[in-house]
Amino acid sequence: MSETAEWGNVCSRVDTCALTGAAAFFTGIKGAEVLVNGPLWCYFYALRHLEKSNSRLGERFHGSQPDNNAVVYGTEECLTDALDYIRENRAPSILLIENSCSVSLIGDDIEGIASKAKLPFSVIGMDSGGLRGGFAEGYSKASIRLWQYLDLPDIKIKCRLGVNLLGATTAYFNGRNDLEEIKRILETANYRVIAVPGAGSELETLQKIPAAQLNIVINEELGLETAKYLKERYGTPYVVAGIPYGLKGTLRWLEKIAEVLPSDLESVREECVKTQEELLAAVNEARCTWGELWFDKIIVAAPGTTAFCIAQTLREEWADTEKLTVICQNTLKDLWEPVEADEILLAEKDSKKIEKILQQADNTLILGSSSESSVLLREGKNFWCCNIAYPVQDEVLLATAPFAGIRGAGHMLQRLWNLKIKAQLPY
Ligand code: SF4
Repeated sequence: MSETAEWGNVCSRVDTCALTGAAAFFTGIKGAEVLVNGPLWCYFYALRHLEKSNSRLGERFHGSQPDNNAVVYGTEECLTDALDYIRENRAPSILLIENSCSVSLIGDDIEGIASKAKLPFSVIGMDSGGLRGGFAEGYSKASIRLWQYLDLPDIKIKCRLGVNLLGATTAYFNGRNDLEEIKRILETANYRVIAVPGAGSELETLQKIPAAQLNIVINEELGLETAKYLKERYGTPYVVAGIPYGLKGTLRWLEKIAEVLPSDLESVREECVKTQEELLAAVNEARCTWGELWFDKIIVAAPGTTAFCIAQTLREEWADTEKLTVICQNTLKDLWEPVEADEILLAEKDSKKIEKILQQADNTLILGSSSESSVLLREGKNFWCCNIAYPVQDEVLLATAPFAGIRGAGHMLQRLWNLKIKAQLPY
């Protein structure tokens, strides 16, 4: 946990712990498996979060279930039992063994125990849990551990217009659909997406990561440290692009990438113009009947990159408001500057102020999660809720429509307009 973090935030309120983040990265590698060396509580805490985007995750996600004695005297016996099970029943391309908070304190040599088990696959061990930080810290640390372990040789002949996407995850709300749209836009602009570590690429594909001409960081809080590591190791430049929301936002996002690795963006520009015309016609009709898309106050609350990128697009393209407050789960460096928010708060250090703002919010649009809307509900406030982050208890999202990119621009406008319209209906 970082020095300023409050325990309640890291373990239970708006964020999940490093154990979940590390598991998200490794289970995001096709064929990789994860063994949680910690109590059942930690295992199910992570599983419950991660299986939302992968219903078959339980097959690749294991637990050693140490009892109270093991938590004091060492986990070798239960860890060896779990490894025996995996050796006999599974064939992972690589296995992450991650210690929970309590087991991290014992100092078991988990890689040593794994080597005694003579496993026919690679094993990486790491301490995780809330003591190591939140989801982002766990994801980022697991990613760097993988590259250090693989220590891939450099590939001198780079793939023309080849890019890797760093810090992408399907464990964020609607993350899988957003990632598909991001890849589609890049491919429309003639880029070749080589690898997406932690979000679908298999171990074999990850060996080609040094072949890229550019690393694109999608979620800064998840991918920036890996980008820095890969730049140092292979000299690959990187750009912190964020998530492309809205039509202007998508073009700006792509132009930022093209500044470092130029490509032909014409097809994407044409698609944006065509979509813009369609959206404008639909929005003008809605305006005539229902008025402007105006909300007295808007609060955006989400993981850092999602929060900043959504806030920027709200201001520029989507809705008007008197006051825009951004609450983010992570501090950002590169994406922080351009956001024109009236107030920016950090979940890990401003929790008292955030609680007060939520308790006093009325006639407010919440672009966040059920964590924020439940506070307003409890306080009996009038509000609209558009979920953009987990946890989500009041919406089922089954369609393959993204929030990000060109297709996402229409989807998000549709969600915002429908909130506004429904609020004016007498039924
Ligand atoms: S590893 Fe620690 S922070 Fe994570 S679920 Fe277990 S007890 Fe909570």
